[in-house]
Amino acid sequence: MSIFENVNFDDHESVHSFADPQSGLKAIIAVHSTTLGPSAGGSRLWTYASSEQAMTDVLRLSRGMSYKNAMAGLKLGGGKAVIMRPEGDFDRTALFAAFGRAVEAVGGKYYTAEDVGVSPEDMRVVRAQTKYVAGLNEGASASGDPSPVTADGVFRCIKLAADKKLGTSLKGMRISVQGLGHVGYDLCRRLDEAGAQLIVADINTSLVEKAQSRFGAKTVTPDDIYAVEADIYAPCALGATLNPDTIEQLKVSIIAGAANNQLSTSQMGQSLQERGILYCPDYVVNGGGIINIAGEIEGNYNRDWVEGKLQGLEKTLSDILDLASKTGRSTDVIADEMAQKRIGRG
Ligand code: NAD
Repeated sequence: MSIFENVNFDDHESVHSFADPQSGLKAIIAVHSTTLGPSAGGSRLWTYASSEQAMTDVLRLSRGMSYKNAMAGLKLGGGKAVIMRPEGDFDRTALFAAFGRAVEAVGGKYYTAEDVGVSPEDMRVVRAQTKYVAGLNEGASASGDPSPVTADGVFRCIKLAADKKLGTSLKGMRISVQGLGHVGYDLCRRLDEAGAQLIVADINTSLVEKAQSRFGAKTVTPDDIYAVEADIYAPCALGATLNPDTIEQLKVSIIAGAANNQLSTSQMGQSLQERGILYCPDYVVNGGGIINIAGEIEGNYNRDWVEGKLQGLEKTLSDILDLASKTGRSTDVIADEMAQKRIGRG
């Protein structure tokens, strides 16, 4: 299938594919928009069943980055990279070195950082090949792993939504969390400190056991997380988990989580609204990490600047929720319109 026929193609400015037989690299970098500045978004290392699946993922994710960066008030466009995980054993350093050369070849139109399956150590390897990388642990304006800042942003958004929809603090709130990775686990820590009762699921049982012993979290199987009775649901694993099948099972009032592209199709926002569930748009809620990375790209990383942008994120979500409650329109549509306006599309 040609990329132009892919339903997720959204007039992306450019899409680049790379292969390096020696290291096993097969990667796609998609630049969705550079209207606000060079595109930026993480790189994902994942097992894809086909290159079409990888293409669909990168097209959706890069568009999401344009919206996310615009809504976070950053001078960055949207881009993303996916690396198809090689089968069997592979030399990780060689793979990320080849990926670094790929990023360099895009010539500064795309800045990379960590996403699912990628660590600051991988980014250190990429840095040896290109300067268009952030999320580093070392260097003059290194910002490190963005995940704790993403978790901070998600936590603030959950607090805000609970206050607006339920009129309460998080103390005693039942919050279900799907995915206990870099973001999900740190989010649980913050929610636990705020007095919430956690119900968690992950395919990685050791993370589930850790959350159980550290936070007293109740645990359920990955399949059962949707049907859990709770006040708030925080999807922090992978995308497209809000679909007709799962939405039917949900027994929550609010959804706010870190995962990218949570809605399987654009109709899902409407379905959630019809069920009386307040959906906090993913690319607003999870903007903390890219804010942290943007500080590094600008070359003058500092916590005060990041704090200001995180407060801006809360204000943006607050505006969306207020407008949705005033107009009766769904939050995802309102957020999309705001983002499109900011990037000069629509
Ligand atoms: P991660 O890989 O560290 O964690 C993901 C977790 O989800 C893993 O523990 C994995 O085992 C679990 N998981 C996978 N499939 C699952 C399933 N079916 N049910 C339950 N658990 C499952 O990734 P992360 O960095 O924590 O990111 C989580 C999500 O947030 C991703 O969608 C990512 O794109 C998004 N995100 C991350 C950041 C960031 O700063 N890391 C920023 C913005 C958005």
